[in-house]
Amino acid sequence: MLNILPKPKSLVYGYGTVGDDYVVTLKPELPEEGYRLILNEKGIEIQYSTEKGKFYAAETLDQIASQCETLPCVTVEDEPKYPYRGFMIDCARHFFTVEELKKQINVMAELKLNKFHWHLTDDQGWRLEIKKYPLLTEKGSVRSSTRGDKKEIKGFYTAAEVKEIVNFCADRFIEVIPEIDMPGHFTAAIASYPDLSCHGKPMKVSERFGIHKDIACAGKDETINFCKDVLSEVAELFPSEYVHLGGDEAPKLNWYECNDCRKRMEKHSLADEKALQGWFTNEMVAHLASLGKKAVVWNDGVSENLDKTAVMQYWKQSSSTNKELLVEAGRGRQMIFSPFFYFYFDYPHGMTPLKKTFNYKVPSEIEKNVKGLEGTLWTEYVPDVNKLELMAYPRLFALADKAWAYDDDYTDFLVRLDVFAEFITDKFPIAVTVKPNPSFLKGKKDTLLFFLNILDRDTIKVARELRLDKRIAAKRRRKG
Ligand SMILES: [Zn+2]
Repeated sequence: MLNILPKPKSLVYGYGTVGDDYVVTLKPELPEEGYRLILNEKGIEIQYSTEKGKFYAAETLDQIASQCETLPCVTVEDEPKYPYRGFMIDCARHFFTVEELKKQINVMAELKLNKFHWHLTDDQGWRLEIKKYPLLTEKGSVRSSTRGDKKEIKGFYTAAEVKEIVNFCADRFIEVIPEIDMPGHFTAAIASYPDLSCHGKPMKVSERFGIHKDIACAGKDETINFCKDVLSEVAELFPSEYVHLGGDEAPKLNWYECNDCRKRMEKHSLADEKALQGWFTNEMVAHLASLGKKAVVWNDGVSENLDKTAVMQYWKQSSSTNKELLVEAGRGRQMIFSPFFYFYFDYPHGMTPLKKTFNYKVPSEIEKNVKGLEGTLWTEYVPDVNKLELMAYPRLFALADKAWAYDDDYTDFLVRLDVFAEFITDKFPIAVTVKPNPSFLKGKKDTLLFFLNILDRDTIKVARELRLDKRIAAKRRRKG
């Protein structure tokens, strides 16, 4: 029996011995990423409609060849379930070299994943060279200490390195989607150019994790122009269809007190600060559109007035989630799914075991709005590539199978995962040292330790302040 991962749509065995011919045939009627791979007495034939299909057929052929001494007669008909199959790596909290990223991108290609979401900016570091604003990397890419450890973390990607990654991905039919997180998670930018915030006070690149209350000022024209300038350079560096604008975890405490923000709200008759964020993001969505790009925004950054063309990346699950999804689906919004309890690979294996990732189901009512799935790897507690690989694998294999395959039989997936067993042991020896499905007790312990680690003194202090933000927002909604 052949084991292919991700699972092909259909695989039918034939009889006889595979002949010596090798042909590729253009079949325009096949789906863009689909292919037909025929191994029969004549030989090997790959049918395809685009180069992507041809590439995926070759990946499948590789997997078949690696499992048998002589090729079996078989016909594989294949196409992905979702057009968007992504993996995100956060290079802001910790920095990863081009070579370290290429290693993961190679695995993505083998798994037929096609979107590399590159999280490049955050409170703790700005990692992308922007010619117009050199301080972003001079100051913003250096963090002197992390939670008091006094160890410097620094690094950024030059335009040449970006090009190298973009080309490396393009050779593997992977689109690189850069993320420039705004207006929240903006401390590294503010540390470089303090006037970007509402209060304009000097700040340091953040040395703690969690949510930060100093965000970009949506009232100052200078801040709006800065963000647009950055996006213009980003659009030149990345040939992608999409640019990710972040938009998550943007507390409005500064906006309540800021004259510029208040004026902006009055001028545009915006009912509350959430609508102000919608206005701000719309400015960026329109700017990206003028550069031929579309925007992606995390779901907590999606407001009622947000442009309908912006794709929503759903991560934040809550009790009102299903309602929110239905409302956005009703607006016709396209979605990418990364529900954090299932697809966040920085969570311990005990908290998000392999089986849990695999068994996640997209709500059927909104299935038609879903472009695809993405696994994300945040790196607050992932200081190096070894830890990254320990966390990512084999959960990324489950994500890839779900995003490509039409069937979701976990037992069958485990059998197929075995095709990669040797590959994982060779390439990621560290990943083999974890149990992908720890026991119940180990799971509880992992979860507890994970949260105890997150909740340091600074984070608790800020969480108290942020409660005030929620209370004010609720009060304003009631008034409105
Ligand atoms: Zn402001």
